[in-house]
Amino acid sequence: MKNESKIRLNNVLVTNLLKIAFTASGTPLFDKFLFPIIERGIKDALDRVPGPVTWPGVLEDKYYMLRAMAYSSLKIGASSKFATTVVNKAMLSDLRLRKEMEFRQKFGFDPPGFMVISPAKRCNLRCRGCYANSASERDQLDYSIFTRVIEEMREFWGARFVTISGGEPMMYRWNGKGILDIYREHPDSLFLMYTNGTLITDRVAQKLYDLGNITPAISVEGMKVVTEQRRGKGVFEKITRAMEILKKHRVMFGISITVTRNNAEEIVSDEFIDYYFGKLGAGYAWVFHYMPIGRDVDPDLIPTPDQRVMLWQRSWDIVKNRKIIFVDFWNHGPVSDGCVSAGRPGGYFYIDWQANVYPCVFFPYAAANMADIYERNGNLNDLINMPLHSLIRNWQFRYWTEGDLLRPCPIRDHYRMAKQFVLQTKATPADEGTAAIIKDPLYEKKMDTYDRELARRTTPIWKDVYKNGSRRRETIRSN
Ligand code: SF4
Repeated sequence: MKNESKIRLNNVLVTNLLKIAFTASGTPLFDKFLFPIIERGIKDALDRVPGPVTWPGVLEDKYYMLRAMAYSSLKIGASSKFATTVVNKAMLSDLRLRKEMEFRQKFGFDPPGFMVISPAKRCNLRCRGCYANSASERDQLDYSIFTRVIEEMREFWGARFVTISGGEPMMYRWNGKGILDIYREHPDSLFLMYTNGTLITDRVAQKLYDLGNITPAISVEGMKVVTEQRRGKGVFEKITRAMEILKKHRVMFGISITVTRNNAEEIVSDEFIDYYFGKLGAGYAWVFHYMPIGRDVDPDLIPTPDQRVMLWQRSWDIVKNRKIIFVDFWNHGPVSDGCVSAGRPGGYFYIDWQANVYPCVFFPYAAANMADIYERNGNLNDLINMPLHSLIRNWQFRYWTEGDLLRPCPIRDHYRMAKQFVLQTKATPADEGTAAIIKDPLYEKKMDTYDRELARRTTPIWKDVYKNGSRRRETIRSN
């Protein structure tokens, strides 16, 4: 009880500080006086709760990322209802602390922090190589499962952050209900929606603002030529129009990018950053490296190990020097303490339109199906100790002390090991393509060669820049 009052008092103090910061953001007062206080607060918080991996370079990465998040959110979020919802309903909640304790007593570690759900496979675009091109009306998640999962996350884990992916989530329909009904029926959950942006109209943007618990992340591949090569002619105009509409309606939005061997340099160029962040007003970028899974796989599209080092270096430039939230999930493994799949503490599971549950969006082998679990009176916690999830999680825990967090991904950076986990637990492939690649020796050889070359490039950086701090990151050459 004493603890709860302390938390409440802290919440009141932080809420007031944030209110002042929101009001002052954009003024000279903010940069000169308020932001330095926030920077000190971030340092203190990291000193107190550094997380499971505490090498100097890891703490430095976390500091700069949190600093960029605070700076961009306060600047852009000042006018956005979403940012206020994040502060009031998610950050300042004691629900998570209470549920963490209950979960820890039962399972021995902290609960997952979020879920990724793809409610509909279909899409209104026909992007090159996308699995959604083969979708039908039937590929949609039962609304009762969708909504129950969100309730159980809150109930069992105190988690209220849900990422919605696709297909195109705006195409989801179930007995007259759509994705906006989910957002409306869960007002104290926060949603990040990956969308192609082409269905965002003035009316939709106004609804998103009124609901105040969604931030859309719009997919781009680069500037106009590269984006339209994959997404189709005319899409770039539609996307930029959607961003203008969202900005007009003060809805916080970001961009999401799939990086391949062909667009790696463009997405970290000044032209790209100035256009999306400076001109169009994006609040953040999520960068996903191309993963050769699903239809038309091509391991040769994965950014090369040299490109990966270049992206690591350039992305930190953007985060540190421009204070932009530019998150490269694979290269920024140190920020998240590595892989966040398989329901690890603060991590997640992924559910698709057939209610299949995977360790991660990019790990396309399912250990369970939520419809089956509910059918036999189970619940979301039944996922935790499934053999595939336990194997991955035990590896993640060991990797905190033994591993190189610049190669955090089991399925990409340690393919042979991930393959053994899949075979050992007889996990179900997501589709025919995925069933074929797990048996394909050529695919395995390519992935393994990539993993070895990557290790050759990143291991010295991990040792010298992150662990012993004997080398400055600026001195690393990317080729
Ligand atoms: S499996 Fe790979 S892509 Fe998925 S969370 Fe882990 S590191 Fe990220």
